[in-house]
Amino acid sequence: MKVIVQKFGGTSVATGQIRERVVHHIMRAMSEGYRPVVVVSAMGRDGDPYATDTLIKLALSVGGPPAGRELDLIMSCGEVISAVVMAQTLKSKGQPAVALTGGQAGIITDEYFGGAGILRVDPKRIWRELEEGKVPVIAGFQGVNESGDITTLGRGASDTTAAVLGVALGAELVEIYTDVDGIKTADPRLVPNAVTLSHVTYSEVVEMAHLGAKVIHPRAVEIAREGRLPLKVRSTLEDGPGTLITDRRPGGGIDKLKSDRPVVGVAHVPGRTQVRIDLTGCIGPVTVAGVFRALGDAGISIDMISVTPEQILFIIAADAAEQAEKVLRGLGLAPVITKGFTKVSIVGAGMHGVPGIMGRVATALTKAGVAIYQTTDSHANISCLVKEEGAAKAVAALHDEFGLQAMPAQ
Ligand code: ADP
Ligand code: MG
Repeated sequence: MKVIVQKFGGTSVATGQIRERVVHHIMRAMSEGYRPVVVVSAMGRDGDPYATDTLIKLALSVGGPPAGRELDLIMSCGEVISAVVMAQTLKSKGQPAVALTGGQAGIITDEYFGGAGILRVDPKRIWRELEEGKVPVIAGFQGVNESGDITTLGRGASDTTAAVLGVALGAELVEIYTDVDGIKTADPRLVPNAVTLSHVTYSEVVEMAHLGAKVIHPRAVEIAREGRLPLKVRSTLEDGPGTLITDRRPGGGIDKLKSDRPVVGVAHVPGRTQVRIDLTGCIGPVTVAGVFRALGDAGISIDMISVTPEQILFIIAADAAEQAEKVLRGLGLAPVITKGFTKVSIVGAGMHGVPGIMGRVATALTKAGVAIYQTTDSHANISCLVKEEGAAKAVAALHDEFGLQAMPAQ
């Protein structure tokens, strides 16, 4: 059996009209000889009646913060409703279909509510439904733990559901359908002339996704990479070719693109807060290790870390700022905490060892009148912290500098 997993995001299942497009993609896959296994997200966005954020607000509005178990239970409903609606839609077209929860689809997780890890997938129910000629429509973003409680896998994790099912079923391909026509050289909301990449590597997409390109969840890409499972990101509305994600670039060798395209994209993460701790006037028992240990114990995740004998510098998510301040003051420190930053990054597996890239980044941002507050880099990215109000300009300037609007269809 030639299996394909097709995942449809929140906007792709939001209205009756767009669900017709979903049917079209499922039927097309069938006409190409595939047996589709469909994964759906909750319908719509915050404010829509069954969207995840709406359900969270409903739970929070009654009797204070719910226990993790109850919060997961209510959050899982959005995808369940969506799966039923999609299965009904298929049946109304004469196509047998069956809606399954994540647990019914065989996704077994650990006990961590809100961000559960997948322990294993037992797809026998899916196989049975396929053998009966049905299209299984599976609620994304959820599983069940060994105590029988429904768990959720973290925001954006319907992509993860699709990838684990693809691996477990030995699928030929996982398609991620969304509201853009593929992975682009930057978020089209910031750079309208961003180009759709026809082929990128897992590592480039993982990098872009970790650095803020929310078009696909990085965990899904890592699972697909491990399972050597090709992914395709496509538009629900249009019939374009989309972006293929595999471990090699078109035309062969990894090295080929090293010179061709050191940078493949620009990503950004808004809502960052900078924390600076001056160590010069610091007396007493506080150590650098103590600072990081205390933040870790408080569950605050930090990024863009830089330590010198004079200061400690890092960034956190804006909603962790208050707690970080409390923890650091508790250690007798006087941190300088500044909100309103965006982390802007250039990404490309081919930039490693190519000289002059940072010079080009700094020049482009200076020309655009955007100040850099911090930087970090790895073999495949350079990130700059900039003020929120300059973020769009910074992304556009870097996109321009590295000629991404002229990126050939590869
Ligand atoms: P879905 O609900 O289908 O999962 P998401 O909102 O999670 O959709 O992801 C799609 C969005 O990702 C697009 O609307 C786009 O604004 C954003 N995005 C950010 N970076 C990129 C990029 N490099 N290429 C394409 N889309 C991007
Ligand atoms: Mg998504």
